[in-house]
This record gives sequence, structure tokens and C-alpha cells, in this order.
Amino acid sequence: MTRPPFEAPTDDDVRTVSLQLGRPARDVVGIAARCACGAPTVVSTRPRLADGTPFPTFYYLTHPAATAAVSTLEAEGEMPGFAVLLVDDVAAAYRAAHDAYIADRESIEVVDEIAGISAGGMPDRVKCLHALVGHALAAGPGVNPIGDIALARAAWSPHVCECVDYARAASAEASRA
Ligand SMILES: [Zn+2]
Repeated sequence: MTRPPFEAPTDDDVRTVSLQLGRPARDVVGIAARCACGAPTVVSTRPRLADGTPFPTFYYLTHPAATAAVSTLEAEGEMPGFAVLLVDDVAAAYRAAHDAYIADRESIEVVDEIAGISAGGMPDRVKCLHALVGHALAAGPGVNPIGDIALARAAWSPHVCECVDYARAASAEASRA
């Protein structure tokens, strides 16, 4: 887990994230969370992309096995079950997670168009578990309550490597190009 300021991503990190996403990773600020093997699982993206577009999703889950596991949770109709958790202490913690998310992003750059906007439905709805799990992985346990619970329920763990061989995938990609 890593929060800003980040070390600059290495070329290898950016290459791996691009392979995970299936498109060139752009405007990477840093790697906010990693697999047990060291491969990126969450990428942090500039709040304003190089082309000028405001980008609120500061923490983005990139790892294919992780995104698949979280998609399964969403597809299994877990969303209403998460929404009903947003009462009392959990609701307060979720609101604090929203503030923490924005504070992390604004430590990189304040972008007026996305002021007060975080991700995943925060501060009072549950809309995208990928964004919430991404935040939970970046911030560590105890910051994003819904992200923590979703991660615990997901059939993927940052402690168990399920990575493909990125170096081999990269050279296969290069030979196709
Ligand atoms: Zn791994």
C-alpha cells in the first residue's frame, strides 16, 4: 500500500500496467499497490490528464485477476448488500474515506472541475467496487470500509500471486509490433 507522494513509476511498471489494461497506460503518477510478487495492482493517475481531461479516479485497479474477482462480486448482485452497510459508524468511515481519497488526489494536483468528487459512489453510495477496492489496496486496511469488505469477499488476494509472466507477455507484444 502506498499513498502520495509516490516514487516515479519505472518503465517496467508502466509496461506492466499497459499490458494489464490492454492499452498504453497514460499519466501514471505512481504505483499505489502491488501484488505479492511486486507487479502493480493499483495505479495512480494524474488528476488532470496530459490532454487536459479532469480524471477523478485517482486509484485504479489494474490487475486482471483482481478486476475479474471484483467484477464477479458485482455480477453476483452484492451491491445492495454493500449499500445497506452504510449506516452509523460505517457510513461515517465511508465519508472519511471519501475525504481521504480527495486529499490524496489533491496532494498531486487540485482540479476545480472534480472538486468534491471521489470515486466508486463515495461518500454515500456504492457504485463501483473496483474503485473502492483500489482505494482499499492503496490506503491499507481501515480506511475504506466498503473496499475492505469487498476485498475480503473477493476471490483474489494481494498476498497470493496470480500474475501472468509480464516479461514474456511484453516480448510477445514486442514481436507482434
Ligand atoms: Zn503477482
